Amino acid sequence: MAEEAGGIREIVSLTNPLVKQLRALHQRKERRESGLFLAEGARTIVEALDNGQAPEILVYHRDGRERAIIARLREACLAAGGTCIETNDTVLAKISRKDNPQSVVAAFRWVERGFDAIDPDSARVFVALDRVRDPGNLGTVIRTADAVGAGGVLLIGETCDPASVEAVRASMGSIFAVPVFAGSEADFLALCGRWPGAVIGTALPATTHYRKTDAPAPHLVVMGNEQAGITDTIAGACTHLVRIPMVGRADSLNLAVSTAVMLYGIAEPEEGGLG
Ligand code: SAM
Repeated sequence: MAEEAGGIREIVSLTNPLVKQLRALHQRKERRESGLFLAEGARTIVEALDNGQAPEILVYHRDGRERAIIARLREACLAAGGTCIETNDTVLAKISRKDNPQSVVAAFRWVERGFDAIDPDSARVFVALDRVRDPGNLGTVIRTADAVGAGGVLLIGETCDPASVEAVRASMGSIFAVPVFAGSEADFLALCGRWPGAVIGTALPATTHYRKTDAPAPHLVVMGNEQAGITDTIAGACTHLVRIPMVGRADSLNLAVSTAVMLYGIAEPEEGGLG
């Protein structure tokens, strides 16, 4: 994609190679090979800029080229050596794979981070997801982690792709604010061994109420796979195992919902003017 990088181009052909390459970013293999991923909507792209990341490719509707927000995004993209594409509804719909696409779409470089890159003292809480499968859940967890000021989201083992269009959409821009770290179960067990605070696993058979622990910060909250929960090995590495009480017929809460309950129970941020 870098071969014709830089500058502003008008492209309205669906067969243009750059358009084809952007469309291919819906596939994990293509994201992995290129190191790029798609983010949609001016608000999300501004969030990226505010967090120090400029798009490598910016695509916007040509009718909106004079809008102030588009001018800001274009300037940032060009300043970083990126390519701006002015286009029409049809091309935007093809790239987004949506009938009603956003008027701006951008390709960003994914930043790979292993568990070694985590500084446990940089925040009061972190959240780890064991083999998360659903990109909607993952994006929602990233958004909630952002809301509570978590230091990062850790992905353990084989997971869905945090750079997928679905996960990025569900994160509502928080993908640029919260670092995502990934590693194997063995890497995670090694991290647990050196973690300075509590590693709080969530498990349905646990008997401790999630708010009734004396767990020391920084808190590493571990959430399980949608079908299987956390592995026995990971449960064994936790300093605490807790459960959110339930009284109805449901046998568990949704992963993203239970993560929000856990994060707010443990690390509700203070916000001036409330209460
Ligand atoms: N059948 C799975 C099991 O036995 O764990 C249910 C998994 S649940 C849909 C996905 C994850 O959400 C769980 O691994 C746990 O991290 C969290 N979770 C859901 N309900 C919970 C509850 N009541 N207490 C604590 N964690 C819960």
